Amino acid sequence: MSEEDRAVSGQKQGDDVASVDAALRPRTLSDIYGQEVLVENLRILVEAAQSRDEALDHILFYGPPGLGKTSLSHVMANEMGVNIRVTAGPVIERAGDLAAILTNMRKGDILFIDEVHRLGRAVEEVLYPAMEDFALDIVIGKGPSARNIRLKLPRFTVIGATTRLALMTAPLRARFGAVYRLDFYSEDAICYIIERAAKMLEVPIEPEGTVEIARRARGTPRVALRLLRRVRDYAQVRATGVISASVAQDALSLMAIDELGLDDIDRRVLHNIIDKFNGGPVGLETIAAAINEEADTIMDVYEPYLLQLGFLERTPRGRVATKRAYEHLDYEDNRGEQPRLF
Ligand code: ADP
Repeated sequence: MSEEDRAVSGQKQGDDVASVDAALRPRTLSDIYGQEVLVENLRILVEAAQSRDEALDHILFYGPPGLGKTSLSHVMANEMGVNIRVTAGPVIERAGDLAAILTNMRKGDILFIDEVHRLGRAVEEVLYPAMEDFALDIVIGKGPSARNIRLKLPRFTVIGATTRLALMTAPLRARFGAVYRLDFYSEDAICYIIERAAKMLEVPIEPEGTVEIARRARGTPRVALRLLRRVRDYAQVRATGVISASVAQDALSLMAIDELGLDDIDRRVLHNIIDKFNGGPVGLETIAAAINEEADTIMDVYEPYLLQLGFLERTPRGRVATKRAYEHLDYEDNRGEQPRLF
């Protein structure tokens, strides 16, 4: 299966899909449904900053991919009426690259850094004074005659996004005044997102069809929108174009997505732990090698949902498949030695 076809992959996709994605992105905080507490916090940040005519405090969003970290950053720029400059940790290779970006920021502008945990050390060191003192320290010259000069920067805002809070250095984390975790969305919220997208894409969908897709969307807007597109294709080619419950079910089972939204890779992860490692504990790297996937992809994209479902547990010695996983995958009760968690 290619990366693009994967229903639950956390990877960003090609241009055509990206442009549809951009059209579907929420534009204002009122468009964000199902994250009431987060939205209320962000609204307060915006209103407070506006009333004091200041830049927003630096914000860090963390949580699994596809939950809206990037979208929220654009929403914040929109709400503040400022420009947003988008970059990512691995893209800023040298300290000079960051300096070039920072010197082009205007007052109030937002610098969005995706995968902020992947910034290099030298780059981070430029970022610290920039975030804290709005200053850029530059060394001019070399050797004994080298001297430091400090450039003032306008007050701007960094919004960082990460799927791996634990990999961020403590000093960088400490420089974000507002830190928010994004959680999986409720089925209700996902239904709303699917309905809104279907309306924008002019796809006829019945309420039962929406529920069928939402149930398998892993509480993740990106997955919901991807499934909607695939089911729309199926409805147009194999049915009347309307997404009913049965059309959605047929399309999704053709994609090998089960009733909880698990796909082939989720199942391979679980089957491997159960069949080859007797239910675990087994290290993530070992699982990744056994199913020929990247450990990072499993950790970022697959594992959070399996943990949330209670199918997997993390222990100091590795991952363990739970009783629920055995049940979901229809393992017989007379399986071999039982995992220790039972
Ligand atoms: P992340 O940065 O966390 O990986 P994105 O912001 O890129 O997630 O969101 C992934 C997709 O899901 C985007 O296409 C976006 O339009 C959609 N999306 C995310 N959050 C929401 C939401 N709350 N409401 C509607 N669509 C959303």
